[in-house]
Amino acid sequence: MAKKLTKYILAEKDMPTSWYNILPDLPKPLPPLLHPQTHEPTILPPPLFPAALNDQEFSKEHFIEIPEEVQEVYKMYRPTPLIRAYKLEKALGTPAQIFYKYEGVSPAGSHKLNTAIAQAYYNKKAGIKRLATETGAGQWGSALALACQYMGLECKVYMVKVSYNQKPYRRIMMETWGATVIPSPSTETNIGKQILAQDPNSPGSLGIAISEAVEDAFSRDDTCYSLGSVLNHVILHQSIIGLETEKQCEMAGVYPDILIGCVGGGSNFGGLAVPFVKDKMKGKKIQIIAVEPSACPSMTKGPYAWDYGDVAGMAPIAKMFTLGHAFIPSPIHAGGLRYHGMSPLVSHLHKLELIEARAVDQKATFESAIKFARTEGIIPAPEPAHAIKVVIDEALKCKESGEKKVIVMGLSGHGHFDLGAYELFLAGKLEADAYSEDNVKKALSQLPKVDYVESK
Ligand SMILES: *Cc1c(COP(=O)(O)O)cnc(C)c1O
Repeated sequence: MAKKLTKYILAEKDMPTSWYNILPDLPKPLPPLLHPQTHEPTILPPPLFPAALNDQEFSKEHFIEIPEEVQEVYKMYRPTPLIRAYKLEKALGTPAQIFYKYEGVSPAGSHKLNTAIAQAYYNKKAGIKRLATETGAGQWGSALALACQYMGLECKVYMVKVSYNQKPYRRIMMETWGATVIPSPSTETNIGKQILAQDPNSPGSLGIAISEAVEDAFSRDDTCYSLGSVLNHVILHQSIIGLETEKQCEMAGVYPDILIGCVGGGSNFGGLAVPFVKDKMKGKKIQIIAVEPSACPSMTKGPYAWDYGDVAGMAPIAKMFTLGHAFIPSPIHAGGLRYHGMSPLVSHLHKLELIEARAVDQKATFESAIKFARTEGIIPAPEPAHAIKVVIDEALKCKESGEKKVIVMGLSGHGHFDLGAYELFLAGKLEADAYSEDNVKKALSQLPKVDYVESK
């Protein structure tokens, strides 16, 4: 028998040339976005997003061609490898076959560059010269900074002040790629000035930074706003992950019994999952698991309800699993997983029982991350370490039952900028997750009252 490969890489000529849009294939249509004041169905706020991205948000096309210029940039770091985790399998003593799709090879270090490049491209095509966005720890900001550099756009990033001060390296990355980074709240917007007037020492929050970036984009004709997760067009761009994985599984001669990814706003998981969800809708047997932190368990503990996409209640209202837009999760190290809601599309798939959800604790997550680093070598970001925890759980179940399941995981990024969290864990100082039912109850009491009735 021929020796099995460890790493599966598509030839450039075999790379997907279209993104997959699951919207027209859904057995029940996705509920609309509602205007935050009128509660009537709405498009994405027009001055904030170019028409092409709005069209993609609601598209009925099954496949949308990836523009040639975007394909060319993708080819600089894609296809990303699908890797067989032989050493992890051996350490666990499992008969399961474990594969991971590694997005950390992108220059920005995560999957976020896949949509950043596409968004910068469509903005440039629409004549936009400058993009404004927010960033927490800096993963999204750095992806957009590089994408703007590729496409010749200016980039302005409002970075949550506490991260700006505590985590300088992502900021320096953004500046290296030419972006202008400013701590939020800032004195450059009205909302920032208001907040600073109330509290000159405000540490900032993602909600405040979003409000500043939105105000910036509203106030200038040459500027649009860019969002790194949650929306349908973001998951569309991320479908490149799943489409490549599908072909790479074919190369490996396997089909996943279980597909696992971590969820913050839902984009890397959604992008990995959609081609497989399509198979599942056609009757294929596959278990698809979204993993969230137990500190922010929107899908495992939250109701499926109408809620604002943002803290300030300025963004459209979406039907989603949510802990309430006023909910502020404890400051866990997987900053990318601290969103109060969940992508409406991923929520819908969960409601339709096409995917399932699990919540895992931060400490157990880091134990799994260390196991992964010491076997496979890659130091994972704390976000995908949540997926690794469930991969290990499932592989150990196979050890008990003797089943030789094929487990495929999305490894959304590396953890080279998260070594501070690793240091705490190794020193035994990392806290277990705090989750407050009372805080969630309070936040849920502030959900908007929406009378909108979906047609059958
Ligand atoms: C931002 C981020 C996430 C979470 O965002 P999703 O939209 O849910 O994918 C996960 N992993 C990494 C590495 C990230 O940077």
